[in-house]
Amino acid sequence: MIESCIVCAGTTWMPLPDAGPRSMTSDWRVIDEPLAWLACGACGLARRRPSKLLDEAFYRAGYTLYAHAPGGTVERARQDEYARWIAQATGRRPRRVLDVGCGNGSLLRALRVSWPDAEFLGCDPSRESIAQGYGGDLKLWTGTASNIPSDITADLVIAVNVIEHTTDPMAFLTALRAVLEPDGLLVIICPDGGRAGLDLLFADHIFSFGREHVGILMSRAGVLRVGASQAPRSLGAFQMSIGRRRDATQTKTVHAPPRIDDLKRYLERWQQLDARLQTRIEGPAVCFGAGEAAGLLRAYASRTWSSVRACTIDGTAQGRFGDLPVVPLDAIASNTQMIVGVRPLDQPRLAERLAARFPRVATWYDLVDEPHV
Ligand SMILES: [Zn+2]
Repeated sequence: MIESCIVCAGTTWMPLPDAGPRSMTSDWRVIDEPLAWLACGACGLARRRPSKLLDEAFYRAGYTLYAHAPGGTVERARQDEYARWIAQATGRRPRRVLDVGCGNGSLLRALRVSWPDAEFLGCDPSRESIAQGYGGDLKLWTGTASNIPSDITADLVIAVNVIEHTTDPMAFLTALRAVLEPDGLLVIICPDGGRAGLDLLFADHIFSFGREHVGILMSRAGVLRVGASQAPRSLGAFQMSIGRRRDATQTKTVHAPPRIDDLKRYLERWQQLDARLQTRIEGPAVCFGAGEAAGLLRAYASRTWSSVRACTIDGTAQGRFGDLPVVPLDAIASNTQMIVGVRPLDQPRLAERLAARFPRVATWYDLVDEPHV
């Protein structure tokens, strides 16, 4: 059984429903292992059971999320948005920025626009991603928070969507604090687990944190939280915590938010998604989308996915999504069964646009998200 809770030291863990017999990793691979989430009965922190397939080597080789040259349109727009959010929230011009878990360096490149005079450093465990990021004036190396060279310091240390992948978030935060210059700021961005959401569907997310969980971990690692915010809606449900160095402190106990029922209901809806979505599909289908959300359908709605013959996207469609071709939207016959394969929050608008040409468009946002009151 699993050890005590890293946030509250509680030892009661409630198993949460599995979204399916298999699961998807953050680089969209389907793995033959369920998510296996547990929730701490005392503070609501969610963590997954230790995995047989995902160990430390997982990100070192074969991890493909950033194993491409930076600069693609979608990635660039997203990183620009992260960069604006970070620049606004920190409100200062750093001298040296270190991005821990920098992938191909695309976020550092976006930040360079806000701070042209700063130095930019980054590390990532994935050799393939780092190899794509060389060039320009970025200083990148292969590594993690646990082996940052001892001569490296920075007055802005950022880690964007990394802490939820770590097996030891306290050690991670302690290592980041150690490279912070005395007046430096630490920026931690991760999925906002305050309300159950998509972050629960990635097999290599080891934790799902509410805002209070991150605050407690930071404080115990000797980081005073001086700011917190939520991502712009277009980025999705992400939270930012900004901290500066101080002495480590023990914090008060956490009260369990009504989070566990929310987590259960959310995963149950994903468990039922395949059967419910099948009733909305007739005949062979084309999926609009060839990214993360399409990957989620492939992993958690596999019978529905077996009707999908091709994917399509806006713009110049080419390449493949797994076994399927990605075809241009205007090559698709109007009587085709369409299924939307984008994030739930983007589905209503996309469905409306597609409906102008395709009479049969299946959405599923209402099957996974709780109706907003
Ligand atoms: Zn706990």
